[in-house]
Amino acid sequence: MAEPIRIPALSDNYVWLLPHGDGRAAVIDPATADPVLAAAGAAGLSITHILNTHWHPDHVGGNLAIKAATGCTVIGPAREAARIPGLDLAVDDGDRVEMSSLVADVLFVGAHTAGHIAYHFAEAGLLFPGDTLFAMGCGRLFEGTADDMFAALSRLKGLPADTRVCCAHEYTLSNARFAITVEPENRALAARMASVEAARAKGQPTVPFRLREELETNPFVRARDVEELGARRRAKDAF
Ligand code: ZN
Ligand code: FE
Repeated sequence: MAEPIRIPALSDNYVWLLPHGDGRAAVIDPATADPVLAAAGAAGLSITHILNTHWHPDHVGGNLAIKAATGCTVIGPAREAARIPGLDLAVDDGDRVEMSSLVADVLFVGAHTAGHIAYHFAEAGLLFPGDTLFAMGCGRLFEGTADDMFAALSRLKGLPADTRVCCAHEYTLSNARFAITVEPENRALAARMASVEAARAKGQPTVPFRLREELETNPFVRARDVEELGARRRAKDAF
């Protein structure tokens, strides 16, 4: 039942529609409203909640229109409350979000933005990290430091390895091209690169993926210390 529905939006965003029982669903990071309302209608789901991970417009752009159309409750990061349109409930690290059959733990992962949070549905085995963790990548450090990102990724990589990660962008191929320059000898990475290239050549998505894959192939998750993470992030920014 907790099978997330992936909705492509804008150029490379993924918005997630998460059914939580009795024909109801939550939306995670609606970049825009129209494709989300259309997908919910097609699936016969009514939207009860919006969950935002951070304030960037490609994550909250659909908030007001979806709220107006559905009357849903908007939940978002307390440390960015002033920048979340239509916010009803501000949450922070350690809070729990309950929606009928599903429960999420809120994890503070500030780095990409200073107040960024992630939603971890432990029982469902799902993680919505927004722009903190991508397949073979991590978010740019717009507001935080390498220290912050190291702390955030350390936190996420401690979750169960079979967790399915529903990130907010299809950045996988460019991330893979960078990752292979960092670890050219990594055989798991080479294999993943090949499968990602094949998928993208057919226009197929590469998200969600398992956290285990990141432990094996993501150069940011695999960075041994803050300095290594920072150097890799700077190199990726210039890649
Ligand atoms: Zn962002
Ligand atoms: Fe984004």
